[in-house]
Amino acid sequence: MKVGLSNPALIKLHLLVDGVTFDSDAVAQVGTSDAERHTVYNNGDQPLRGLAAIPAELLLPDDIVAAVRYRANSPWKVVRRADGELEVQRDGEPICKVKIPHRPPYYGVGIGNGVVVDEVVTQYSGYALGIFMRRTCHYWQVGVPCKFCSIEPTRRTYDGALDRLPLPAVVAAVRTALELDPSIRYLEWCGGNDEDLDAGFMEVIDAVRAVAPFRPPHISQHLLLMPPFDHKLISHLELVEEPTFSLEIWDADLFDVVCPGKSGQYGRDRFLAALARGVEVLGRGRLSCNFVAGLEPMDSLIAGCQTLAKMGVVPTAAVFHPDPGTAYAKRPPPPVEEMLELVAALRTIYRREGFRPWMVGSRRASVDGEIYQGYFDA
Ligand code: SF4
Repeated sequence: MKVGLSNPALIKLHLLVDGVTFDSDAVAQVGTSDAERHTVYNNGDQPLRGLAAIPAELLLPDDIVAAVRYRANSPWKVVRRADGELEVQRDGEPICKVKIPHRPPYYGVGIGNGVVVDEVVTQYSGYALGIFMRRTCHYWQVGVPCKFCSIEPTRRTYDGALDRLPLPAVVAAVRTALELDPSIRYLEWCGGNDEDLDAGFMEVIDAVRAVAPFRPPHISQHLLLMPPFDHKLISHLELVEEPTFSLEIWDADLFDVVCPGKSGQYGRDRFLAALARGVEVLGRGRLSCNFVAGLEPMDSLIAGCQTLAKMGVVPTAAVFHPDPGTAYAKRPPPPVEEMLELVAALRTIYRREGFRPWMVGSRRASVDGEIYQGYFDA
């Protein structure tokens, strides 16, 4: 495994764990030519110190997309060099050049009724168009959110996006964004968690159907959502190339603790049955299950990944980030050394099973894609 900092995927892993800070020159063009963060969903930034705006992502060498988790005291800092290029440094030592994604040409474009495109969809993971059907979650509304989740604290502090997306607005915004931005490679759909999970499931399926007539075939789709109560509905996932159900935590007891809403309303056994049904319908290696790495012992998470792989489900994992306003705001992210144990396990699984994780080349919060691409090979 290449573990030196000449490996941009390892730099990404460090940035996800340690966070990053910026000098003011580095973010001087954020909001004009460089893209500013649109905090439509979760936000892992600490309060900004002396900066008006920061980007949501960085582009590392080889165009590797890394999420920005702003931490003012991080050893990692993005600075603007004398030649005008951006560089990331660790403890003041130059590590590599970086870029900030361009500000999308569709931001600020009207789609009628006083709504602009970026109130409906957002640039996400550099090359994806994020479509978050709701900025609310039933589990927050009834007081049992996942303990790491900041969707509601984020919604309270950012009003630049609609809380719920009407279907005509989704169609108009996706159409406009695709027409104006040729860099889009993926549509990243995120379903809303309704009290009625079947209604929430079908809401996003209907939206996927509505954009199908004008979606260019080279633009792939990822869909992240809770499984429905009625497992017959799972057959609708045929519509998207890369569907995901997120169990978040493998250990059964910790799942109850970390995800009390998912556990109480749906339950782990029903979740695993939904994943098994997904494999029956879609075949092995198509449906993935995402975890939050860093909230349970790594050997438990690795055992879960191995069990799912045997079932035909693609295991994937995002790096835990402690978001302000959440129950876990003060928990530390997992150490890089522990993450590398998971990286090695996922590498073995992907190679053995022939699995491809979702949104390879455009996944900001995880190194699954880089594992698949061979960045952690010997
Ligand atoms: S299901 Fe959990 S992680 Fe997802 S939005 Fe609701 S509280 Fe947040």
